[in-house]
Amino acid sequence: MTAHGPVLPLWLCAGCAAPWPCAVRRHELLTEYASAPLALAVHLGSYLNAASQDMSWAPPAALERRFLGWLP
Ligand SMILES: [Zn+2]
Repeated sequence: MTAHGPVLPLWLCAGCAAPWPCAVRRHELLTEYASAPLALAVHLGSYLNAASQDMSWAPPAALERRFLGWLP
């Protein structure tokens, strides 16, 4: 279990207080899903969906960049 999990409802990292997924968690996710990039995209899509409800004030494009925009 990672120390870099999201703290809701602001979706900040519990490990380093950066906006989640932070750089460490992104790296972990890429490693965990190295053989299943599509599953990672689906997984992050469900986080994006939950986060956009928690942070309905945030611009959707910014949330999309944050949760999906860093995928290779
Ligand atoms: Zn972190």
